Amino acid sequence: MYEKPLPTVDPESAPYWSALKEGRLVLKHCLDCGRHHFYPRALCPHCHSDALEWTDARGSGNIYSFTVARRPAGPAFKADAPYVVAVVELDEGARLMTNIVTDDVDSVRIGQRVVIEFDAVTAEISLPRFRLA
Ligand code: ZN
Repeated sequence: MYEKPLPTVDPESAPYWSALKEGRLVLKHCLDCGRHHFYPRALCPHCHSDALEWTDARGSGNIYSFTVARRPAGPAFKADAPYVVAVVELDEGARLMTNIVTDDVDSVRIGQRVVIEFDAVTAEISLPRFRLA
């Protein structure tokens, strides 16, 4: 269907990739400031605490910003442009860059409700994408 470079998996991000493979989206939750953040990091990006735990996310949110790509930006993207690249604000407050799966890119709007879809890129790796709810 399309070619993708494999995401970087290191000890810090391994639980994230494992959860995606199981059909779960996990976030880091900071025990000091109480906020969630998306990408696995050793420190909270909000308060720099290292008191972090993995928590399950609901997998739903709203489109915070987006752009319609008319040509594929690289091998990680579908060849059959146009497609939507978006920042989704999850219900937990964390934001992540992702793709919106839709056949009608012109219908996408800021604030639209979206839900996660787990895209099996290979037998080992799934990526989170979203579709309009
Ligand atoms: Zn924090």
